[in-house]
Amino acid sequence: MSRTLVFVETQDGKIKKASREALALALSGPVPVAVVTFAEDGADLAAGLSGVPTLFHVTGAGDIYQPDIHAATLENLIRENGIKTVVAAHSARSRDLFPRVAARVKAGLVTDCVAVNLEEMCAVKPVYSGKLLARIKVNAGVNLFTLRPNVFPAEIPEGKGIPEVVAVSAADVPARCRVVEVAAGAAGRVDLTEAAVIVSGGRGIKNKENFALLQELADVLNAGVGASRAAVDAEFAEYNMQVGQTGKVVNPKLYVACGISGAIQHFVGMKTSKVIVAINKDPEAPIFKKADYGIVGDLFEIVPLLKAELEKALN
Ligand SMILES: Cc1cc2nc3c(=O)[nH]c(=O)nc-3n(C[C@H](O)[C@H](O)[C@H](O)COP(=O)(O)OP(=O)(O)OC[C@H]3O[C@@H](n4cnc5c(N)ncnc54)[C@H](O)[C@@H]3O)c2cc1C
Repeated sequence: MSRTLVFVETQDGKIKKASREALALALSGPVPVAVVTFAEDGADLAAGLSGVPTLFHVTGAGDIYQPDIHAATLENLIRENGIKTVVAAHSARSRDLFPRVAARVKAGLVTDCVAVNLEEMCAVKPVYSGKLLARIKVNAGVNLFTLRPNVFPAEIPEGKGIPEVVAVSAADVPARCRVVEVAAGAAGRVDLTEAAVIVSGGRGIKNKENFALLQELADVLNAGVGASRAAVDAEFAEYNMQVGQTGKVVNPKLYVACGISGAIQHFVGMKTSKVIVAINKDPEAPIFKKADYGIVGDLFEIVPLLKAELEKALN
């Protein structure tokens, strides 16, 4: 019988929230689900995979993502198990991996989906910087979907039995490139693509040191810290913090833009935030046309006040 394969990514031994969203979607679909993990301690995930009959635990690939080896291993899994559908979070990893896998198995691939119907093999994804929603039906023998984080529910039904763990050897293929080291970015304690709250800074922050102000507010809210491209280009912030057309697309419940004018290229990266709060000293700043709440004022006065009030309220 056909199965839907879910490629999951982990952090600190747990399935990342965006991968849980992919899993929850697969579990609501028409066929049984199998999960694949490349994490070295991946067999330990079984206890949390209620309702999943099979966990493929890939061994021998190492904990670092190796494009050719991961792609060839997934190709083998798909071919040997008659898998017709694969889903994953739309992450930096799947953006690299899934096109490789699609090319190998001649699959249909729809990335960054905001809706997926697994019975009809139909998905919806934003195109032209979010100006349009494209409805795409795929009918290749194998179809792959990556899901925009924070759009799909992540709830997995409990008490439905844990999976059989099947050890799978990583594909033994010559690697045309090999990742030798992954260095964690200095900035950003919370993964922006999964964050429920983001505090972002723009050119108005004025220098790198002032980002500490935003980090303090973010700590109170358990938020991630983002940045505009102007702030990144000026080296106030790391590139992995950039939100927008040439940075990350984020989808938090709350986005607090501090000293950001609201250029379209920034807006497309955060416009699906549920609530947008803007702090800007220019009352004519375009961001105020897009924000749900606007505070006209100097961010160096407003942010500490906001932090103090939130601390009181949340304690
Ligand atoms: C092809 C292309 C791709 C791009 N991709 C991206 C992208 O991915 N992400 C992105 O962000 N941009 C991107 N840009 C750049 C974008 O067009 C803007 O230039 C950029 O977003 C501006 O950043 P900013 O709002 O921080 O700076 P500015 O536009 O300079 O705005 C700074 C704001 O800070 C306010 N301010 C200043 N001091 C204070 C203070 N003390 N208190 C409160 N407010 C204050 C000012 O009033 C102003 O509104 C791209 C551009 C191009 C052409």
